[in-house]
Amino acid sequence: MRLQLSTNELAQIINGKIIQLNESVIDVVVYDSRKIGTNRNAAFFALKGLHKHGHTFCQDAYDKGVRCFIVETPIQLPEDAHVILVNDSLYALQELALHHRNKFSIPVLAITGSFGKTTVKEWLYFVLKDSYKIGRTPKSFNSQLGVALSLLELSDEHELAIIEADISEPNEMDRLEEMISPTLGLFTGLGNHYAENFSDQKSHLNEHLKLFKHCNFTFILESYASPFRRNKINTITTSPQKWNNIPSIQDSFPENRALCFEVAAFFGIEETELIEKSAKLISLSGRQEVFEGQNGNLIINDTYNIDIDALEQALEYQFSSKEKGKKIVVLDLTHVNEKRKEEIIELVNRYQPDGFFLVENNTLPNELFEATNAIILFKGSFSSCLSELVQQLKNRKHETWVEFDLRAIQQNLRYFQELIPANTKALVMVKASSYGSGDMKIPHFLQENGVDYLGVAYTDEGVTLRENGIHLPILVMNTELNAYEDIIRFQLEPAIYSIGHLEAFIDFIQQKELTNFPIHLKLETGMNRLGISKDNVAKVIEMLRKTEAVHLKSVFSHLADADNNDQQYSLKQINQFIAVKTEFEQQFSNDKRPLFHILNSEGIINFSKIAAFDMVRIGIGLFGFASNTQGLMESIKWFTTVSQVKTISAGDFIGYGCSFQAQKDMKIATIRIGYADGFRRSLSNGVGKVFIHNNPCKIIGKVCMDMTMVDVTDLDIQEGDEVEIIGKNQTMSDFAKLLDTIPYEVMTSINKRVARIYVKR
Ligand SMILES: *Cc1c(COP(=O)(O)O)cnc(C)c1O
Repeated sequence: MRLQLSTNELAQIINGKIIQLNESVIDVVVYDSRKIGTNRNAAFFALKGLHKHGHTFCQDAYDKGVRCFIVETPIQLPEDAHVILVNDSLYALQELALHHRNKFSIPVLAITGSFGKTTVKEWLYFVLKDSYKIGRTPKSFNSQLGVALSLLELSDEHELAIIEADISEPNEMDRLEEMISPTLGLFTGLGNHYAENFSDQKSHLNEHLKLFKHCNFTFILESYASPFRRNKINTITTSPQKWNNIPSIQDSFPENRALCFEVAAFFGIEETELIEKSAKLISLSGRQEVFEGQNGNLIINDTYNIDIDALEQALEYQFSSKEKGKKIVVLDLTHVNEKRKEEIIELVNRYQPDGFFLVENNTLPNELFEATNAIILFKGSFSSCLSELVQQLKNRKHETWVEFDLRAIQQNLRYFQELIPANTKALVMVKASSYGSGDMKIPHFLQENGVDYLGVAYTDEGVTLRENGIHLPILVMNTELNAYEDIIRFQLEPAIYSIGHLEAFIDFIQQKELTNFPIHLKLETGMNRLGISKDNVAKVIEMLRKTEAVHLKSVFSHLADADNNDQQYSLKQINQFIAVKTEFEQQFSNDKRPLFHILNSEGIINFSKIAAFDMVRIGIGLFGFASNTQGLMESIKWFTTVSQVKTISAGDFIGYGCSFQAQKDMKIATIRIGYADGFRRSLSNGVGKVFIHNNPCKIIGKVCMDMTMVDVTDLDIQEGDEVEIIGKNQTMSDFAKLLDTIPYEVMTSINKRVARIYVKR
């Protein structure tokens, strides 16, 4: 949610009366004072609650930093609060949602029906997400409040919105329809029951239909064709039979699946892709996933929803299990209201589990990592993070994963810190998800380990860091005009690389009436990528001296050839940098002197004695890679596992295109890695190899998207055995050479689906 409204604009939109004025900017809406986290530019809507009115929580919200309040009765708050009075704060919130919704002219698909809404929505999301940027209802936020909150999540980047709407009383749909203004509809059906507040099934159905009155098309099952026709709603009908050709392992929900595929086809998804995705829908919908955990634990992962019936079923399943072992129950009740919470806890206690934990702050209780031979049930709602957390307990034998050794990384950091003078700062580049190591783990690790600065390539990467609790200064290498807003909002520091760029940024800062905003200058010294040329330096200095808007924090450049044994080119760059540095130092008084930095990882190794200056920028070296790795520890290993072992006879072909024909009887293993993981196809047919039990195994046939076949003739190999891609037998550099590339590219090409795990060895 990024509303960017002034408090005045907000008051106008919701037709409220300002009773205490303090202008500020509103970006997000909050209504539950317990859930106020970052409270950046939040407006607190005091809603009527089940037990207490939201007014009671205004002070609490104020204490957490909120300064804008929407209330139904005048209320006493400190002077710097902005207070808007309205008749009905839920209605006001809906007005805001409606206003926000109308800013977008993208297709908006509204889903209603008495069952399956969330399933269909999540499936649709899954099937369409690679083709469209989708904004969708979080969790099952489908009530009068939920729909408003869902709509407020829409942003410029979205190309399609999928919004769920639910009703429990007559005449509720009109307001939802008005807010959502759907262009497309989807009706999941009504089932045999009708909600208790309706006199009969027909009136319940008619209430649902109101959602679709302005839709261009509504997707429905054939069996509902006539009421829709009667109500003059344009439909696209479907049926499970129509989609029989798409295989599915699971028999349940064929109607939901048909609706989902029909919409996907409407949005241009090809049948081949549907087939591929259909195979995965199972795991999305399959309510219970049972798998082997570490330490002999059995994990029942049932993080689909947390209604009481489903929980009871899951507990029945768990406690009736014949497997011996302790029974442990882990619940995430973050999105559950207090009353339900009590009921749920009571229900679990009835089963007298050996361990019972509630997950808080998205962290698993430590006890779980110590459990052995237990049967552990995880239950939470579809959208809680629990299903991802559970993966930490998975027995890794079934997967493909990259391992990052944090102890090695820590050691490498120290190694660099020792190479540079004590008062030289360390900046670590964490661009491209920290060189492919994952979004947040390494940045947090660095923050905890005393790094002074972080660097990223693009603004969005900096935003992600800020949104996840990184408070170190962040230097952004490449910023564009349309990113300035975020630069300011998230306190990022842009690298300026041209006069035009500098002018534009100063202008922007002045418009915002800010001063002293930190910036960095990137100088061109020989890389010839981005940078201000030395001829322009005098002009830049002149501009900077004239303005109060920005404050020059550092001047830097980048070495193009730092790993070359012949140091000539680097020295030339360094000398040119020193010349410019002197020019700056002459023009800026000591208290305004910026920091100077030019060395990357290789640069530090080779030139720390002469060119460390005020700061260095560590990158790939953190992970232990450099042309001279003495003193560094390789920190990355990449593994997969064997999924099948088979014997083939002389003359048999292997894999796509029959590119390999066995000359003798052979034993082969199929392993769980392919080019989609970053295990490139060019490794096919003997170019690459992997190691199993420390034995080299050649790749035979073509590397497939998700699998690869290797020669294991004469080896004793079982399904599930670990396969080393990168590790002690095949180093990162060996592997990079096979691919005719460098570790940087190998690291950043490992697909997101490959699990990242972090160990301390
Ligand atoms: C990526 C990057 C670095 C770090 O380079 P490594 O070779 O990985 O040490 C330093 N400075 C800039 C400007 C970068 O883009």
